[in-house]
Amino acid sequence: DEKKFEKLSFMLKDVVTLLRSQAKLYNIEINLQIEKERMIFCDRTQIKQVLINLIKNAVEEMKEGGTINVVAQSNETNCFISIIDEGPGIPEHILHKLREPFFTTKKDGTGLGLMISYKIIENHQGSIEIQQNKGKGSTFQIILPINHE
Ligand code: ADP
Ligand code: MG
Repeated sequence: DEKKFEKLSFMLKDVVTLLRSQAKLYNIEINLQIEKERMIFCDRTQIKQVLINLIKNAVEEMKEGGTINVVAQSNETNCFISIIDEGPGIPEHILHKLREPFFTTKKDGTGLGLMISYKIIENHQGSIEIQQNKGKGSTFQIILPINHE
């Protein structure tokens, strides 16, 4: 474990900057909205890996282009990072399989990204919630506790 107090905005900006140029090739915009700066006690490399996994999944589902909104909100005890896509959403009958290793619906998928992401977030006493959007697509929300210094 390499946990330290890290600025949430730095991790988000690093990952979004990294993935934005790749997403552009598929006509996808990535918007980043950070409501309030927060320090998170975490392994920065691992949390960035989770963000990369979830945003990449969103990109891979959006065949027609569109916008991915990454929104960071928080209260006194938790921060909430939502990755909101405009993909096809997740069929009800596969929801329970998502965190199984090697479960993939992609030709060249590994089916490991979500399993690893759940493991990392649980190792940070957090959770990942999945919601279907009202309009189009799905939302993966990372919930992480804020450990006050
Ligand atoms: P992989 O990306 O290699 O398929 P993941 O563990 O990252 O493996 O994802 C597993 C499966 O979960 C994907 O193949 C896909 O079916 C589904 N999935 C993940 N993210 C999304 C999303 N944003 N929208 C729709 N389906 C998704
Ligand atoms: Mg993946």
